[in-house]
Amino acid sequence: MRNLISVLASLALGAGLLSAPAYAQDKGSVGIAMPTKSSARWISDGNSMVEQFKAAGYTTDLQYAEDDIPNQLAQIENMITKGADVLVIAAIDGTTLSNALENAAAAGIKVIAYDRLIRDSGNVDYYATFDNFKVGVQQASSLVSGLKERFPDQKPWNVELFGGSPDDNNAFFFYNGAMSVLQPMIDSGDIVIQSGQVGMDKVGTLRWDGAVAQARMDNLLSANYTNKQVHGVLSPYDGLSIGILSSLKGVGYGSGDMKMPIVTGQDAEVPSVKSILAGEQYSTVFKDTRELARVTVGMVNALLEGTEPEINDTKTYDNGVKVVPSYLLEPVSVDKSNWEKILIDSGYYTKDQVQ
Ligand code: BGC
Repeated sequence: MRNLISVLASLALGAGLLSAPAYAQDKGSVGIAMPTKSSARWISDGNSMVEQFKAAGYTTDLQYAEDDIPNQLAQIENMITKGADVLVIAAIDGTTLSNALENAAAAGIKVIAYDRLIRDSGNVDYYATFDNFKVGVQQASSLVSGLKERFPDQKPWNVELFGGSPDDNNAFFFYNGAMSVLQPMIDSGDIVIQSGQVGMDKVGTLRWDGAVAQARMDNLLSANYTNKQVHGVLSPYDGLSIGILSSLKGVGYGSGDMKMPIVTGQDAEVPSVKSILAGEQYSTVFKDTRELARVTVGMVNALLEGTEPEINDTKTYDNGVKVVPSYLLEPVSVDKSNWEKILIDSGYYTKDQVQ
């Protein structure tokens, strides 16, 4: 019976009675290793890539490792064993993949570092990401605008700093970008870090964990702000910002005469967009994951067709073994003044999702 159906189906296809699927999945297979589903951005990244790779004729194997390093390693090894043509990897710890990538290279598999640089390996072919230094510049610039707007007469401003995960190369770019704006203001005395905690070794947040940031903010407040007000908090990621805001609200900020400090963020995640609309979080940085997927699919296509992928940076991303040729997309700072234009008009979210 099944044979009969398939014979009839091929006759019908041949006669043009049935249309073939929109994509002919024969261009190759792509293993996509994403860090975690605990943050919505990686879910969007994964979905956009699967959709766009499929439309371009590839099969995909998308895996999430829930921020567990051995789990991600096992997933990548498995993709290699199953014969992927290309690996697209957003690493949990950018320094732990060297052995796996040696196996990939031995099997002739190309590797693209996705969003996060993979360090300490010569077997990284290309890097697709955003201008990560600029993300930090935008976060700090927005922090300073917010301080001027909300606390015009209260200089010097009391600010505390948070960094991302020290095993993620991006965290250093965000921090250094932000400090390129803030350090001169610290030097001139316009900004004071009451805790004295400066530098990624002191302000980093392992695994970008919001609960860790919330606990650190609790400690900063009780140790340094019992008789002072904090005016701003540099936060590099929305998941941390939400934790920091909970801590601030817990001691009364945002009510009575305790104005909410200026809190930054990144990724334009739904809870943070809602928080911005509610006047709590001040800003975020939007990085269009659809665009990052598009650039990555373009790189894979070029690699497998034996042409040169499009890149726009050959200097910035030294991974300790080589400078990885990169394509950097533009991040966009988002706050109450432009969220609709950037997030809704672009079709990234519907209004219902964030209101
Ligand atoms: C990404 C950010 C994200 C962070 C936490 C970084 O590597 O570039 O967009 O906020 O990881 O997931």
